[in-house]
Amino acid sequence: MNHIADNLAQVHQRISAAAQRCGRAPEDVTLLAVSKTKPASDIEHAIAAGQRAFGENYVQEGVDKIRYFQQQGQQDLVWHFIGPLQSNKSRLVAEHFDWCHTVDRLKIATRLSEQRPAGMPPLNVLIQINISDESSKSGIALSELDALADQVAALPGLVLRGLMAIPAPEPDYQRQFAVASQMAQALQGIQARHPSADTLSLGMTDDMDAAIAAGSTMVRIGTAIFGARNYAAR
Ligand SMILES: *Cc1c(COP(=O)(O)O)cnc(C)c1O
Repeated sequence: MNHIADNLAQVHQRISAAAQRCGRAPEDVTLLAVSKTKPASDIEHAIAAGQRAFGENYVQEGVDKIRYFQQQGQQDLVWHFIGPLQSNKSRLVAEHFDWCHTVDRLKIATRLSEQRPAGMPPLNVLIQINISDESSKSGIALSELDALADQVAALPGLVLRGLMAIPAPEPDYQRQFAVASQMAQALQGIQARHPSADTLSLGMTDDMDAAIAAGSTMVRIGTAIFGARNYAAR
């Protein structure tokens, strides 16, 4: 096994253990492999090990990888855009990705919906919540969620799949769990009106166990699969 296959196996074990500890089925937690800054050859190792869902933060880098694997005839990959999204890049996301995790305003949602090509299924979107209330981070406050969820759900080119958050780094498990539980409650809160919202995108390498215990259905893991990132090399 190469190190990426080995790392993936370990992450799957971590997911299974965390799920079993709280009586959840490991299959209810989707592993999103965050491949930002990493070369296509690393993604190929992950594909060979069975991984199909990939997360990218930078629009052009992600589109280049999507095109590359389409040209290779690899049609069964699922691409998630998980980075901050500016209006002028929305078209590339709408035309190439399967999911966008970072919808946090109606303007971006409307553009994604209008720009989604007619021949493609609606774009799966998550509303990003600023759960740690840091002014520097993107995402909306929980108090704004109901209104934005109704607006997003009404757009024909999108399907509202749930919520996403990037909590502030926090080493303490109990505090990680408390924040993650707030997100799980928020998801339950919109599910009655929006049954398609079945996804909680929460948990990274350092807080995935608490996120799963609280109810995350999609963990976004980069470092534990591909190793540390070298941003200077981008
Ligand atoms: C980079 C990134 C991740 C992966 O983080 P790791 O700590 O490397 O697992 C997950 N989510 C988002 C939004 C990211 O930008």
